[in-house]
Amino acid sequence: MNYSRELKNQIFNIIQKESDKLKYPTYVVGGWVRDLLLKRENTVTDIDFVCVGSGIILAEKVALTMGKQARFKVFKKFGTALISYKGENYEFIGARKESYRSNSRKPIVENGTFEDDQIRRDFTINAISIQLNKDDFGELIDPFNGIEDLKNKIIKTPGNPNKTYSDDPLRMMRAVRFATQLHFEIEKESYEAILRNCERLSIISQERITEELNKIILSPKPSRGFKVLFETKLLHQFFPELVKLEGVERVGKHVHKDNFYHTIEVLDNISIHSKNLWLRWAALLHDIAKPQTKKYEKKQGWTFHAHEFIGGKMVPGIFRKLKLPLNEKMKYVQKLVALHLRPIVLAKDIVTDSAIRRLLFDAGNDIEDLMTLCDADITSKNINKVKKYLNNFQSVRKKLKIVEQKDQIRNFQPPINGIEIMQLFNIKAGKEIGILKKSIKDAILDGKIENNRDEALKFIYKKAKELNLNK
Ligand code: ATP
Ligand code: MG
Repeated sequence: MNYSRELKNQIFNIIQKESDKLKYPTYVVGGWVRDLLLKRENTVTDIDFVCVGSGIILAEKVALTMGKQARFKVFKKFGTALISYKGENYEFIGARKESYRSNSRKPIVENGTFEDDQIRRDFTINAISIQLNKDDFGELIDPFNGIEDLKNKIIKTPGNPNKTYSDDPLRMMRAVRFATQLHFEIEKESYEAILRNCERLSIISQERITEELNKIILSPKPSRGFKVLFETKLLHQFFPELVKLEGVERVGKHVHKDNFYHTIEVLDNISIHSKNLWLRWAALLHDIAKPQTKKYEKKQGWTFHAHEFIGGKMVPGIFRKLKLPLNEKMKYVQKLVALHLRPIVLAKDIVTDSAIRRLLFDAGNDIEDLMTLCDADITSKNINKVKKYLNNFQSVRKKLKIVEQKDQIRNFQPPINGIEIMQLFNIKAGKEIGILKKSIKDAILDGKIENNRDEALKFIYKKAKELNLNK
């Protein structure tokens, strides 16, 4: 089959010319070809090229032809080169032969033939390539019947799966990732080989594992991936906190829900509404402290008191271990986990404005994401209950809107700041400033005064008197 009509991007013609000049057989391979055959649109902005020759030399020539806008970078250690051009990434590699040792995922690499290079690829569907040289421009090469596997939606390794996964255990994570992203099944032998080799994941750096995990989380239906990660015990290797959520316990008539399956259902629910990786992480971690807080109480049955607070506290440790960023993204996840039960309380009939203001203050600009998380957290099988809960959250949203319009709490800025307080009462920095600032904030949130400067000034003079600060 010839795909020259699909090779519209200018890059293919440039590579053809430069490859022919260098007399390198060159191919486009991997994700771009796979997605072309699957007719998955606008997913790949990264294109992988392989040439029988030096990938670095070819990339250099191509970058020169493309001109100033092309950024060119060499990764000497890997023998690869990358061109970035208008938001697209083109990766170049020379055909190679790989042999593995047991204690490292890094192979011994030698220059190889095109056939050597095909065999080293992870899955049949990733080993399909299209030739770019003039005489065979657009010719498809499918050495392991990858097209058949694309049709049947199967993830399968070109060689013996046991060896493929043992050689480079990252491929097990990749198998789950592709199965989840593409909605494919992992072939039985492969699946069993993953089970057998799951502990080999220990030789893979956490960064690489997490990169694949994030791609699973960003898939349309991430629960599929988490089920496989759990069943193959891959999850047990790097995320025991999540594994612990699995299972149910019963005392008499009282049985609690399986929090692992609940969690991944919440993750699916939120994925319908948001592509935000960090909101999806918040969904994944919202109940993470349920195992530690679980108690059976005679009157109430199963309880998980304070699991939201303890869960919030667990977030930094989990982020550190999984090599996720320890910045404002982590704080955002932590905040949503800690607050995820608050809107439920507000759904009750009688709720004071002050409780609404407190939530607006604590959630700030993440209030909508918090409400999205709360909606997603409803996983009851009873349609009437689901409707009722969703309605309740809609009325919470209304209340939030009304109070926010009135009081502008979301981006709360104290109407009088610490420096002004120091000047007003001629005092130095110290704990009094903190006390006064907090008292203004509390007075506003509790509705004792309005959120403006005049009222705050009146209030603070009174407060200062109580503290004997007046001159
Ligand atoms: P995507 O770009 O959507 O993540 P991809 O298939 O292009 O998918 P890349 O990580 O870009 O994945 O790798 C490009 C190609 O290199 C793959 O299609 C595969 O043929 C090969 N490859 C990548 N990683 C491995 C690996 N660990 N073992 C074997 N082959 C690999
Ligand atoms: Mg790619």
